[in-house]
Amino acid sequence: MSPSRRSVALLGATGSIGVQTLDVLRREREKFELVAIAGGEQLSELAAIAKEFDVKSVAVKSERHRSEFVDLVERDVEIVVGDEGLRDLSQHADVIVNAVLGFAGLPVTLGALSAGKRLALANKESLIAAAPLVAKVRNTDGAALLPIDSEHCAIHQCLASSPGIAGYPDVRRIVLTASGGPFRGWNDEQLKGATKEDALHHPTWTMGAKITIDSSTLMNKGLEVLEASALFGIDVERIDVVVHPQSIVHSMVEYVDGSVLAQLSRPDMRLPIAYCLGLPERLAHAYGALDFSKPLALSFEPPDAAAFPALGLAYEAARVAGAAPAWLSAANEVAVAAFLADQIKWRDIVAIVASTMDHYVADPLDSLSSLYENDDVARRWARASLDR
Ligand code: MG
Repeated sequence: MSPSRRSVALLGATGSIGVQTLDVLRREREKFELVAIAGGEQLSELAAIAKEFDVKSVAVKSERHRSEFVDLVERDVEIVVGDEGLRDLSQHADVIVNAVLGFAGLPVTLGALSAGKRLALANKESLIAAAPLVAKVRNTDGAALLPIDSEHCAIHQCLASSPGIAGYPDVRRIVLTASGGPFRGWNDEQLKGATKEDALHHPTWTMGAKITIDSSTLMNKGLEVLEASALFGIDVERIDVVVHPQSIVHSMVEYVDGSVLAQLSRPDMRLPIAYCLGLPERLAHAYGALDFSKPLALSFEPPDAAAFPALGLAYEAARVAGAAPAWLSAANEVAVAAFLADQIKWRDIVAIVASTMDHYVADPLDSLSSLYENDDVARRWARASLDR
């Protein structure tokens, strides 16, 4: 083993980002050692990963999952359980990849940063919900927060040309690109009849179900506005969204002198994953390389704010701040789960989020217990509006 190998904990190993991270790690065994993994219900996949990479520690959801996993893994690994287990594994590697689904990824985000680790974040929900709490632990010695989200990874690369003064005074605005999702250009009548199958059919990216549905409502882009603001410390009034159907320009930074810097590549999540693992080194795999020997047309258009009200809700939550972003994200998780379970129509997803936000009571969100309480209350309001 090379002494300079970086140890990696991949928490959320069996989902879409997890699988693509494993693909990067397989090609880079001399540089990285996968030491810890976590997963949810797909225990046989988790056991197969543990065997293939000879990992030392595995986090599972519950004692029931532990006993099932022990039978599957057929080797001696440390097994830890639940939120405590996730938090524990987020503190014992050089790089922590947070690919846990949704708000459940919170212990990983806070655990990794408070332990001074490099956090490669694919879980935007935890950062959005806990932004004031993340800000407190982010300056821990050694801690680094790197975004796997492709738009934010693009911005991270574009910002390298800035002196990096707090608040980025030389940046006029950040421009997040959006594919527009499967319903770009659909009219009111068409959107009324949008089915689950339609919504799960993303035009440019292959991703997990939750984020694919979020892309269809543009809630994903709304959450990404909040994510960018929290990551880079830039007010949402300086963050714009532009629809770019080709998903080649992953986002842009416009400087005060009018220069716009962009990062371009084919849509391939392995590129931002490799960037976050390798920084400051770039790993030589050219996952997203473009072929300029063929015609390539790039187009940009403003989003349709009336057809996709999720964007406006996200900006509003950002302006209200405190626990409002946590409410937005929690209500959205409940609504998307209900849509995936065929309980509501596509249009109802954002309607439920909007009606949940009507019940928000201002809270500065100054503690972890207050965050869990807010998350719980928001989910209850969202579930209540499901039944209406
Ligand atoms: Mg994204």
